Amino acid sequence: MVIILKMTTACNGTCVYCSAYKEKPQHLSVEVARRVLGLAAEYLRADRRGHVNLILHGGEPLILSRRFYATFDKLMDEQLGALRPRLNVAMQSNLTLLTPAKAAALGPVLTRPIGTSYDLYPEVRSIRGNRSLDERWYRAMHVAREANIDTGVVYVVHRKAVRDTEKVWTFFRNHPDISSVRFNPLYAEGRGKCDEVADLIITAEQWGEFLIRGWRMYELDGFRPSFAPFSEFFAAHIRREPRRMSCAHKGRCHDTHLGIDPDGSIYNCGRWSDTQELCYGTVFDLGIEEIEQSPVRRKLGERQKVLSEGPCKDCQWWAYCHGGCPNDAYLEHGTVDAPTRWCAGTLAFFEQCLRPLGDPIGRGSRDR
Ligand code: SF4
Ligand code: SF4
Repeated sequence: MVIILKMTTACNGTCVYCSAYKEKPQHLSVEVARRVLGLAAEYLRADRRGHVNLILHGGEPLILSRRFYATFDKLMDEQLGALRPRLNVAMQSNLTLLTPAKAAALGPVLTRPIGTSYDLYPEVRSIRGNRSLDERWYRAMHVAREANIDTGVVYVVHRKAVRDTEKVWTFFRNHPDISSVRFNPLYAEGRGKCDEVADLIITAEQWGEFLIRGWRMYELDGFRPSFAPFSEFFAAHIRREPRRMSCAHKGRCHDTHLGIDPDGSIYNCGRWSDTQELCYGTVFDLGIEEIEQSPVRRKLGERQKVLSEGPCKDCQWWAYCHGGCPNDAYLEHGTVDAPTRWCAGTLAFFEQCLRPLGDPIGRGSRDR
């Protein structure tokens, strides 16, 4: 189970396409945090071999104080007790507010890396205040290293990045502090729906172009960089290990993911919380069993049957895609019962880059 917990909707960033932007910021309360950790414990008690991967998300989670994270640490003990080793905790952050003191407070809480977002284009991604994103980010990366906190990068692919695919790739591949990157396509949510961002939004074909040009770089680099989704498609196609793919390609996030807002509202993941659609209820009303039985979860679960018998019926790449992310489908088509917005570009990538290396694995292959 993966729980994406929105610690706050406030942020010190000024990313022009922010999908999580809210007019009135909200912070997680101790009461909601206690209940979320209680749900994690309930899940672990019911599934003796399972794990919960908790991702502290936002907004910008490092806006919350050291004192809050010290309290969060105590709540983890209080709610999980002996189950705590089965709770993995990661964070998604722009990192710029990481100080040595905050890193010390986070040390006992985090068991997994901080995924940090970064961009080469300051006009796209920046932070408030007098210091530049670069200055604050490099200093924070140093703090993370000193505190033995691992980091990975999440990169949002916009139109400039598609144009400069090779430059973006080379920047990350040669960066001494970065060992893993996840490239995600920019989509129109939150501030990303504004007219000013229209020039950055990419089409399915442009996402395909990025994947194809990125794959050429990946080939030149001997398939070595830990750059997703390239490394995931390599594992699926060459090693026949599709289980390593992300939620967007596995087709089962209705079973594996939850997103929780600072006020305790439950969604299928952080993206649905940004969209504010398909709310399950709140952490104060629902237990794990009710969440699993929720009509929202059932509706999302039916999507696989609808797509595999309908629009994706003849797709040879089903095992690598499963129709893609339901939120992408919803933002594009107003329904989850449609293929992802990225279908055409992803198909072009599959055919041009993966097909020459072998036929796709069969529809039923579920190396999970
Ligand atoms: S809705 Fe999309 S982003 Fe959210 S868990 Fe499902 S596949 Fe992942
Ligand atoms: S590539 Fe397109 S047709 Fe094939 S499974 Fe994905 S969404 Fe469906």
